[in-house]
Amino acid sequence: MRDSEAATFYANRTKEENELRYMLFMQHSHDGSSACLYGDDGEMSCGVCHIDFVRDSVEMIKQKNYDFNMRECVRLGLIKLTPNV
Ligand SMILES: [Zn+2]
Repeated sequence: MRDSEAATFYANRTKEENELRYMLFMQHSHDGSSACLYGDDGEMSCGVCHIDFVRDSVEMIKQKNYDFNMRECVRLGLIKLTPNV
């Protein structure tokens, strides 16, 4: 079994953390659709914001979610970026 395989990550985590990651994955969507999710072969990832619910650390999941939401706020004109001078 390769270290990068999903099963390796599951085996190295508690059952509780695996369950919480699965619940987080199942609740994930964009614009009300879960079509962005890939969940075959033990994988749990999003093709839109690129969160890997199997391999990413909790901190990385938080950061990717934050980054995506900030980009969306800019795209929708809810916030404007100003240059640092
Ligand atoms: Zn996503």
